[in-house]
Amino acid sequence: NDQQNTLFVIFGASGDLARRKIYPVLWYLFRDQLLPPGTRFVGYSRSTIVKKNLEEKSKPFMKITGQEKVNLSDFWDLHSFVSGSYSDDADFKKLETYLASYGSTNRIFYLALPPSVFEDVTTGIKKFCMAKSPVCHTRVIIEKPFGRDSASSAELSEHLAQLFKESQMYRIDHYLGKEMVQNLMTLRFGNGIFSHLWSRSAIASVQVTFKENIGTLGRMGYFDSFGIIRDVMQNHLLQIVALVAMARPVSISASDIRDEKVRVLRAIPPLKLEDCVIGQYTGDKNADPKSEAWFGYKDDESVPQDSQTPTFALTVLKIDNEQWEGVPFIMRAGKGLNEGKAEIRIQFKDVAGNLFGKSARRNELVMRVQPGEAIYMKINTKTPGSSGFEFHETEMDLTYKNRYTHHYIPDAYERLILDVFQGNQMNFVRADELSEAWRIFTPVLKKMEDQRIEPLKYVFGSRGPEEADEMCRKQGVEYSGTYQWKQI
Ligand code: NAP
Ligand code: NAP
Repeated sequence: NDQQNTLFVIFGASGDLARRKIYPVLWYLFRDQLLPPGTRFVGYSRSTIVKKNLEEKSKPFMKITGQEKVNLSDFWDLHSFVSGSYSDDADFKKLETYLASYGSTNRIFYLALPPSVFEDVTTGIKKFCMAKSPVCHTRVIIEKPFGRDSASSAELSEHLAQLFKESQMYRIDHYLGKEMVQNLMTLRFGNGIFSHLWSRSAIASVQVTFKENIGTLGRMGYFDSFGIIRDVMQNHLLQIVALVAMARPVSISASDIRDEKVRVLRAIPPLKLEDCVIGQYTGDKNADPKSEAWFGYKDDESVPQDSQTPTFALTVLKIDNEQWEGVPFIMRAGKGLNEGKAEIRIQFKDVAGNLFGKSARRNELVMRVQPGEAIYMKINTKTPGSSGFEFHETEMDLTYKNRYTHHYIPDAYERLILDVFQGNQMNFVRADELSEAWRIFTPVLKKMEDQRIEPLKYVFGSRGPEEADEMCRKQGVEYSGTYQWKQI
């Protein structure tokens, strides 16, 4: 209810996510005057938070220019903190007493906490801290990981379903807040030229890629127990696949869009081992011994010497429906690679009745999600000035920073948190989407672990194992190596 004030409560306010993302993003929303009037923030943690310390720790992430129309100190004036445990009823009662001192308010709870305390905290919220007035809402934001396989994810979903309605749940997949991912709907369904091309009749393959040029050294977290497939593929990349492959939704409502995403996910059979290539990076011993590149994954002391955790994976999804049968959807993700980028690459079929022999290269539509949003279509033209049919590979190019010089592109979290304030669930993962995602990945993850499949080695700074390119070739992806981009 927009008429009521809102309390935004951050559990784990002392943590890394809070300091690096949540507080900075709340500041952007405050700075841009996007928050409903009367919003207040309450940080909760076991440790006592000294506001000045938190301000200092968050400041480096807040991109302050000095040109802001509002004062940072006015923002921090809206914050207060309560300390207590995550499991003791008495502490939740104390929190409730504090929240109630603001009168009747909407309540948004952000769980910036390790998953080990999700159950206790959500139980405590339900028992003591829900908005009391029927005209006020309660919303709960949770962060990945949402389980590590079908069973654990279902357990978490069932637990949450007993406490909250699905309309109160906001499962964050921050990729859904990225500009280019949000643009997929507009691009696909707002351009007649694409409607006719968007199927097996014109498209040869789809690749969704996430590459990092850094490894895990010093930022391991829970990675070794998860691996790259659980960390980015089962969630972020599969969400992108669903948005690329889903049929036209009945409307642009959150439920119609999420229905279509679920429908296309249901048409994807579980992945098979033979459709995966996994790798783990080794150190580049020619690199500077002080640089991260020198260190292999297992050179990190926190990694067990027999770790078979993949830091790279390529998987090939099939979609068994009329629109996509026979089109491979290839997901590639890796750490310690030659570059950092995330992109969607759609390769079109060869031109039919080709007049020009091998000169015509395949068209590709590339949507670069990061860094530097861009959409480009690789096309063939006649080399300017040539008298015959001399080919030149070029591109129709929409580079955002050149075309949209005065547009502000918000951080993914900034949009998503604003969506929560506005009650828009379109860009959050519904329980049934999550369950489909785990259905696709759980059997192959289990096989990899049970059969102790050894990941292929690749050197830090390379493009990953060669077997991944081989798998792409087998799927009919073409790479000529002749395209050259000329940056203007
Ligand atoms: P974190 O810093 O490790 O933990 C957040 C807070 O939780 C800590 O400040 C600590 O607060 C409390 N905490 C830590 N370990 C605990 C334990 N074993 N038992 C009870 N409380 C504990 O975590 P984070 O990096 O902020 O991440 C929070 C959530 O966001 C996690 O679910 C994570 O997977 C997810 N996430 C994080 C990032 C990121 O960039 N950091 C990105 C994506 C998703 P007190 O001791 O003061 O209570
Ligand atoms: P490309 O270099 O021809 O690469 C096309 C695809 O082939 C990529 O997926 C690439 O994988 C893969 N590939 C590269 N080497 C390969 C190999 N040896 N064997 C098999 N596959 C291989 O074309 P591009 O990536 O579309 O463009 C080239 C550069 O121009 C990129 O840096 C791109 O960002 C830039 N460009 C920028 C804009 C813009 O900013 N507006 C527009 C056009 C092009 P990887 O993904 O691993 O590289």
